[in-house]
Amino acid sequence: MKRSKLSTEAYIDGVLSGDRILLSRAITLCESHRPEDVSQAEALLMAIMPHTGKAVRIGITGVPGVGKSTFIESFGGLVTQKGKKLAVLTIDPSSQKTKGSILGDKTRMEELARNPNAFIRPSASGSALGGVSSKTRSVMLLCEAAGFDVIFIETVGVGQSETLVHGMVDFFLLLMLAGAGDELQGIKKGIMEMADAVVINKADGPNQAVAKRAKVDYQNALHLFPMDESGWLPKVKLCSALEKTGLEDVWEVIQEQQEQVKQSGYFQLNRQRQQVNWLKENVNELLETAFYQNSEIQSVLNDVIEKVEKGELPAMNAANLLMKKFSDQN
Ligand code: GDP
Repeated sequence: MKRSKLSTEAYIDGVLSGDRILLSRAITLCESHRPEDVSQAEALLMAIMPHTGKAVRIGITGVPGVGKSTFIESFGGLVTQKGKKLAVLTIDPSSQKTKGSILGDKTRMEELARNPNAFIRPSASGSALGGVSSKTRSVMLLCEAAGFDVIFIETVGVGQSETLVHGMVDFFLLLMLAGAGDELQGIKKGIMEMADAVVINKADGPNQAVAKRAKVDYQNALHLFPMDESGWLPKVKLCSALEKTGLEDVWEVIQEQQEQVKQSGYFQLNRQRQQVNWLKENVNELLETAFYQNSEIQSVLNDVIEKVEKGELPAMNAANLLMKKFSDQN
């Protein structure tokens, strides 16, 4: 069913009044690539800008099966019990390539989906991961303008999507399991290094003893990393998302870190850098699109690729040649 077009004012009023249907439509607008939608989305983002920035932005990652959705259900429930309004966004690196999804099936987080103080929005689809991350930033701003105080951005701990999420949040939480064999469970050291807290999930039943030992191991491992620029020492916590234990501790750690980085000035500095990176991401994306859509480039690209494949033309020379053609046109 085709819906009637809304005026920019209707979007602005809808978002600022916290109307969920209009918020959802505003998000769809900001995710669109159609030129008329893009200019309306720009006007909308410009208008809501003064109402953004007040939420705590929390990134949550961990390998499939670690309990991310269970944790977000339980921890999200706790956050809303504290009187906060929570938005949950996801960045799913799988859905772009395969159209399938590691994170996005609809049965996840059923309780939270019914919670009037929570809003769940799955990953934007249909473009490269970089584009998705840029759109997620817009969605985050829309949610903040709509009055959400806490934003969770969830992603799967399997690739580059963590780095993207880390680049748009104030607090980065890594969920892990104890005793799952390989100490780092395929989580790259780099991801451990980005974590503000490592939370060992499933610390329940017979798993508790091994979880306690893992806590010490992770704490020791984190101490070997160089001190983060923020001055915050990452913490290791135990929880059971299923039995809803340890969650209060996790909330306290986030509060503690936020207080510290706000006092030191790192919070503001980090947010400013993130904004500038967002600008650069957008410029990169626009340039790339313009480059590959350029008719002159399209007319020679296959030929150049073939020459590079055959080793007749060095890749660097090929890139310079294409770039020259592109800039001659602009
Ligand atoms: P995700 O793939 O990271 O989103 O993980 P899920 O939340 O879907 O959880 C994977 C499995 O682990 C499910 O069967 C959950 O019921 C189970 N699970 C999640 N959290 C816990 C927990 O704290 N304790 C136990 N024992 N099982 C859990």
